[in-house]
This record gives sequence, C-alpha cells and structure tokens, in this order.
Amino acid sequence: MRDAPVIAHNRQELADALAATSGTRALVMTMGALHEGHLTLVRRARSLADHIVVSIFVNPTQFAPGEDFDAYPRTLDADVEKLAAEGVEVVYAPEPEDVYPVPPRITVDPGPIARVLEGATRPTHLAGVALVVTKVINLTRPQVAVFGQKDAQQLTMVRTLVRDLDLPVSIASVPISRDTDGVARSSRNRYLSEEERHHARALSRALQVGARSASLGGTPAAVLADTRAVLAAEDGVEIDYVALTDPDTFDCVEGDVRAGTPAFLLVAARVGTTRLIDNTLVTLGGGSSRGGK
Ligand code: AMP
Repeated sequence: MRDAPVIAHNRQELADALAATSGTRALVMTMGALHEGHLTLVRRARSLADHIVVSIFVNPTQFAPGEDFDAYPRTLDADVEKLAAEGVEVVYAPEPEDVYPVPPRITVDPGPIARVLEGATRPTHLAGVALVVTKVINLTRPQVAVFGQKDAQQLTMVRTLVRDLDLPVSIASVPISRDTDGVARSSRNRYLSEEERHHARALSRALQVGARSASLGGTPAAVLADTRAVLAAEDGVEIDYVALTDPDTFDCVEGDVRAGTPAFLLVAARVGTTRLIDNTLVTLGGGSSRGGK
C-alpha cells in the first residue's frame, strides 16, 4: 500500500506540503475526472522527478459563458484514489477563490496561437489556460511540468509561454492515450451516448487516413480532403475544423511543402452536443508519420 497523497485545498496547505518534501518536483495539471490518459502523464512525471504534484482544478477563466463549466464532471474522491495508486505525493485541489483571490487585473495574452482553431471557436480559452498555467507553476515551483499531446494547441502555447516569459520550468509531453476503439481518452467522453460513442470513432479513423495520405506524398490540400471525407461520411459528426499546422508555431501549413515537413493534423467536431478534438503528428510529402514527441 502506498501512502495517500496530501490533499492541499488551498495555497497555504500547498506551501506546507511542498515545504515537507525535498528533491525535484514534477507538476501535472488537470481538471480532474481522471482517466488512463491523465495517468500516462503522472507516470511520465514519475520518471522525471522525485515528487509529483497533481493539480485538480476546473479553471473558470478558460470557460466562456454557456460552456460546460458547471456541468464539468467533478470526481475528487475517485481521482485521489487513482493518484494514490500511482504514488503521487501532493494533490492541489483548490476552489476558484484560492487560485483567484482577487479578480486578476493582469492577464496573459498568448498571442496569435490563441486566435486560430480552438481559439477561433473559443476566443478566451487559451488566455485562461495561459493564466492558470502561469499561476499554478508559480504556486508549485516544479522543475518540470508534463502536458498531453491530446491538447496539441495548448501544449504548443505552454511551450511558447515558458520560452517567451522565461518561466523557470521545463515542459515534457506525452502522446495521446486512446481507448481500444481508437477514441482519444477525454473526461468529456462520458457525455457521449452509446450511439454517439460509435460516431466518435470517426475522428481517429479520419486522422489515420490523413496520416497515410501524407506518408504517401499527399499535398496538404489532399491530406485535408482525405481526412475531411472520412468525417463527412459519418452521420452524427459535425465538423468544426480539419487543419494542418506547424508543430512549433501552429501556423497553418499549406501549398507546396518540402518532403519530410512535420505537421500536426488536427480535427475538431461535434458529436451530438459534445465537442471533441483529436490530432496526430504527420510527415508531409512522403515519409512515415511520427507518434508524438
Ligand atoms: P484536462 O484534465 O482535460 O485539462 O487534461 C489535463 C492534461 O492531461 C492535459 O495536459 C491534457 O492534454 C492531458 N490529457 C488529457 N487526455 C489525454 C489523453 N487521452 N492522452 C494524453 N494526454 C491527455
């Protein structure tokens, strides 16, 4: 039996828990409702530092009015049990008033990446993520923080944030964890009915078709068309976007590209009322696709 993690409900309890540890620290930030995908981040964190801090916080500033902030699943007891089994030392599970004791007058503008793709549909989302990532890194002071490629645009934004603001932390990432039917694991998958879950498989299938098209030398336009065709053929899936982007900047990749150009192939779609995102790294103009960095 491993020791149960210390649960810090506020920044003072967090500071006390951190003061009681020595050695290096890895941070995994989550919104809870933990699944196997989150646990791959925790295991990666374990390989990178002496102690793991997991934050569980449904961050209000990254939700717009009308989004699922209130409905977002909150399952703290079950989450802590899973983290205890992984040997996590500290869980920071604050209320919004602890993270935002006063409404912030200074915010973080993530720049152009916040305005495309996820940012086009959710214009305030990435700024809210940038703010909470900055604050929780400052509150936990880890040497390394681990993020998932599942949220590729967020991952690229966080890498840019850390680089451009000289935050004293390194960023590690893990590839997307998938269920056996190919669907990327997500806390929001629990919103899907059985029938919708079946439709949701089209996202990963579309990405596979797109990655194959890229590896066979397809142009960006052909890769996008092949990916889109799979989604369009699936009843019950409403496409939000299908895109190819530069993995480092998230600038759109189009036109003639050099053989071997890496890119994220990304999809977002609504299945019923649930909005799902998925992606894969591809190599354009021929060559095999990469699994993640
Ligand atoms: P969330 O709780 O959805 O905010 O996610 C917390 C972290 O877990 C983020 O860095 C996500 O990218 C990562 N994550 C969520 N689902 C997956 C998954 N299926 N595979 C890999 N990482 C994931």
